[in-house]
Amino acid sequence: LVSRMRAFGTTIFAEMSALAVQTGSINLGQGFPDTDGPAAMLDRAVQAIVSGANQYPPGPGIPELRQAVSEHRAGHYGLNYAPDGEILVTVGATEAIAASVLALCEAGDEVIAFEPYYDSYAASIALAGARLVAVTMRPVEGRFTFDPDELRAAVTPRTRAILVNSPHNPTGTVFTRAELTAIAELCQEAGLIAITDEVYEHLTFDGVEHIPLATLPGMRERTVMVSSAGKTFSVTGWKTGWICAPAALITAVQTVKQFLTFTASAPWQLAVAYGLRNELEWVSALCDGLRHKRDRLMDGLATAGFEVLRPSGTYFVQTDIRPLGFSDGLELTRRLPELVGVVAIPTQVFYDHPDRGRHFVRFAFCKKDEVIDEAVTRLKRLS
Ligand code: PMP
Ligand code: GLN
Repeated sequence: LVSRMRAFGTTIFAEMSALAVQTGSINLGQGFPDTDGPAAMLDRAVQAIVSGANQYPPGPGIPELRQAVSEHRAGHYGLNYAPDGEILVTVGATEAIAASVLALCEAGDEVIAFEPYYDSYAASIALAGARLVAVTMRPVEGRFTFDPDELRAAVTPRTRAILVNSPHNPTGTVFTRAELTAIAELCQEAGLIAITDEVYEHLTFDGVEHIPLATLPGMRERTVMVSSAGKTFSVTGWKTGWICAPAALITAVQTVKQFLTFTASAPWQLAVAYGLRNELEWVSALCDGLRHKRDRLMDGLATAGFEVLRPSGTYFVQTDIRPLGFSDGLELTRRLPELVGVVAIPTQVFYDHPDRGRHFVRFAFCKKDEVIDEAVTRLKRLS
């Protein structure tokens, strides 16, 4: 393995899901729902295959999906992106982010990301030969946020881009307009590109709304806006994502993307176009259901003795394990299957400064009520 990838072993999601299978544990680790997406959308994928959408689609993506993404951005956020030239379909958000970093960052450039950060960011940045500079999010009154002065101090003459994930995995924070404004001002002062990871854009709770960074003044022209269908439509296995950005940025990213995968699978693209046009009410209902599940899991974890932090978005809850007498989340999550038959994710693996996240553990609540209840019953045996 090349030296720039040596720090990256098996992802925590693969490790923990394998542990869940081996031990027959309840898997509240890797974030994937245990119910399917909208039936008509699934059916549309079957129809697409049966009716012959089985050869290479155009590199930028099937026109129907680019059109649907364009309409969705305009209708939902008032953001206008031309289906031809300003939208690129990718193999999930993961490829979108990797291709963006590879296309836009020179070796030696610095990329800022908020820790704890989604694990693919560090690997994509390393592949580009660039350097991740982590700005730490810390809980303030039960909500993870960052210090704008620390963010400012992280910028150097080598800073090229900032990766902004909101709603944020793994903390569940949805950035406020004030937080986004601090980021936007810095991007403009320092000439940075923003790569935004908005895969949880539709999964927000309690009236909190997702604000795309590109909607802030001066930001559309310097933002690479990434999203995907996996979380919105409960089809994480479809790996269908997209990028919206000004034409020059899309051209750069597409230059890389065409040699990573050339194009993304055809049937899912047609089905996701259908979903974006016809299933947003289904998504609202999903979100209402998730809010109940969040509360159900939060109550259960609190009863089991965890300190629980309330997320405003995503389908993850952060807990502090110290009230139960534990101090190391990695150690605890590796033992949790044998202790009580539950799998969770140690938050510290998403930090460059693991000490700052050592006592946090992430639980996913995108699961059937009976699964959440059984997990809680088991976790109560910890105390
Ligand atoms: N970003 C974040 C924050 C995620 O949680 C995930 C996992 N769904 C991804 C990106 C990857 O998305 P995809 O499966 O579309 O590649
Ligand atoms: N996004 C999912 C999570 O955070 C998992 C993605 C993956 O397995 N790589 O749990």
